[in-house]
Amino acid sequence: MKILVCIKQVPDSAQIRVHPVTNTIMRQGVPTIINPYDLFSLEEALRLRDKFGGEVTTLTMGPPMAAESLRKTLAIGADRAILLTDRFFAGADTLATTYALAQAIQKIQKTWGDLDLVFTGKQTIDGDTAQVGPGVAKRLNLLQLTYVSKIVEADAEKREVVIERRAEGGTQVLKTKMPCLIAMLEGTNEVRRGSISDSLRAARAEIITWSAKDAEIEDLGKCGLKGSPTIVKKVFAPPVRTDRAAFVEPGKNAGESADVLIEAIFKRHPALEEDMTKLASGF
Ligand code: FAD
Repeated sequence: MKILVCIKQVPDSAQIRVHPVTNTIMRQGVPTIINPYDLFSLEEALRLRDKFGGEVTTLTMGPPMAAESLRKTLAIGADRAILLTDRFFAGADTLATTYALAQAIQKIQKTWGDLDLVFTGKQTIDGDTAQVGPGVAKRLNLLQLTYVSKIVEADAEKREVVIERRAEGGTQVLKTKMPCLIAMLEGTNEVRRGSISDSLRAARAEIITWSAKDAEIEDLGKCGLKGSPTIVKKVFAPPVRTDRAAFVEPGKNAGESADVLIEAIFKRHPALEEDMTKLASGF
């Protein structure tokens, strides 16, 4: 099975600080990690490869330092890693990102053969838009399975895959044909550590690095800032909340406690009492 996993290098959000004056994110000195959702995709891809044979390629678009994250994917067990990096990609919004990734995926298929599955994470922990997976699927005309929590089974011969996806109020089980794109949820499997031989191979491995020209990007105008219609008008930290939770003494039983609570709420929000009274009297 030929599988591609899209990964993104992100700042470790647990260590991000916001500048107290400019309210911008201070990235300097913040360690980077592989977007956690993408590790679950990688693990699912590796399990399928281990079962059916084939190869797992990882792909990222990012600055040269993103090679570090790709190397980690090799140490976990991926067979090949590709870094898409060029000044033409700088300042890309999700539209331009999906364009560049889709074009690179086409080049990958031209070079190493058609893919059976493309994995992405559901979302990243920095951009958080969850648009890239569906965007890539649309550009490549791939069926897309989003919010996937489990690969139930895959049949390489029939070229079918059955998955579970989280849906409102339950779980959906869907079967579809390959090739398709799967956007994985976080926390869905236990990500392997990778063997010692994978670590040694990763340390020596070449990270295939493609410029826009290498990736045979057709229209540079659709890449980077030029190809990005999104404009960030303002970035700000939400104001610190000054109202604090209040503790009220409970009553003797549930009914009394509810009365005490309602009275305390109405005391703080008199307009709410007025609205509720109107509602209760049928206005
Ligand atoms: P999501 O859609 O939440 O990610 C879902 C999944 O898609 C991920 O789990 C992963 O599998 C895959 N994926 C996402 N991004 C990549 C990637 N790059 N490579 C491979 N797979 C990926 N960001 C910058 O770093 N530098 C900039 O200069 C920059 N300029 C921007 C300018 C504008 C106007 C805007 C709106 C955004 C800019 N961004 C920039 C942010 C950039 O748009 C996002 O990082 C990118 O489009 C991915 O979106 P996301 O993080 O929301 O991914």
